[in-house]
Amino acid sequence: MTDEMKSVCTRCQIGIMQNKLMPFTLIENGHMVNVQRMPARVCDVCGYRLFDRDPLVSLRAMLGASRRRTKPAAKKPAASPRTSTPRKPKG
Ligand SMILES: [Zn+2]
Repeated sequence: MTDEMKSVCTRCQIGIMQNKLMPFTLIENGHMVNVQRMPARVCDVCGYRLFDRDPLVSLRAMLGASRRRTKPAAKKPAASPRTSTPRKPKG
């Protein structure tokens, strides 16, 4: 007998968590990242979604890598000459 790895939902404790590909939205540093199909486990009773950690980690790594690749704009030397208005001597 092969006992299937059936994981009971941790929220409702009734439903069975089933492997599905769900759309996933992640907001990282103010950027919304949409993933069309993210492997997740979804409860067939209450609809509780549990995303595997690995995809999240790889996704964050991807984001981190892309962030690193984009170099910040070269800093311009502060060439702002002081506009000092000569005070008129009181006379
Ligand atoms: Zn459930």
